Amino acid sequence: MKMIRTIMELRQTLAAVRSEGRQIGLVPTMGFLHDGHLSLIRRAAEENSLVVVSIFVNPLQFGPQEDYAAYPRDLPRDCSLAESAGADIVFAPEVEEMYPQASLTYVEIAVLGDELCGRSRPGHFRGVCTVVSKLLHIVQPERAYFGRKDAQQLAIIQRMAEDLNFPVQIVPVPICREPDGLAMSSRNSYLSPEERSQARVLFRALRESEQAFAAGERESRVFQARIKELIEQIPGTQIDYIEICATQTLQPVEQIDHQALLALAVRFGRTRLIDNCLLTEEK
Ligand code: AMP
Repeated sequence: MKMIRTIMELRQTLAAVRSEGRQIGLVPTMGFLHDGHLSLIRRAAEENSLVVVSIFVNPLQFGPQEDYAAYPRDLPRDCSLAESAGADIVFAPEVEEMYPQASLTYVEIAVLGDELCGRSRPGHFRGVCTVVSKLLHIVQPERAYFGRKDAQQLAIIQRMAEDLNFPVQIVPVPICREPDGLAMSSRNSYLSPEERSQARVLFRALRESEQAFAAGERESRVFQARIKELIEQIPGTQIDYIEICATQTLQPVEQIDHQALLALAVRFGRTRLIDNCLLTEEK
């Protein structure tokens, strides 16, 4: 496996790969890899003859009060994990390589970027769309892989790729969870042992909601009230949102028709975690 730091070297390497007719899969990440990331890499390795994993903590998607500086980083470990999952190239640019001058051009998505996480993280999805656009232009993959863990991000990237005619297939990958149900996340490393144990409530809330949906409940406010009650039993938690919304437009729904996205964002101490599930009749 090759580690590449510059856009020019990556472009040259990929031009040679493309001329051999090989298909390229891209897995964009911010590093500190866990099994969730590795499931994306494995899937990309199954479906493409060359896999590029980007590792870049993108300053543009962090707000001024957020955890950009503290975000966990471990490039040597990431490289060996990525390789073991089937990556051929790790692209790990410095900030100066991706943003050599103050950007004047951004990619911003209307409506979808203002819902859910967009409300408490203004500018976040502008940062995400801008960096993903840059990576798609640099790598020009046939396929790019995104986890359902970040359901809003996935919906946004799918829509952005459609709106801007990116010649790429966006491939969604299921959420990877710890044995007790907590969705894997690089930010789980911030949790104290007590918070880690409390954070199990997210999965419990989702599972109970799926059971209520299967039993016929369709009123969003009933799901929301029950989840709020569960989470508020735990001291030190702060609910950012409990939303039930349409899967593609992310617009809130009062009454679930046959399918909706249930998405949560909750703070445990200073750590903000997100999780979600699909409430669907189609399972
Ligand atoms: P991040 O490094 O957090 O930006 O995540 C990079 C990619 O990995 C995104 O597409 C995420 O949705 C995906 N991802 C992160 N955690 C998980 C998980 N637990 N299961 C599946 N995909 C994940």
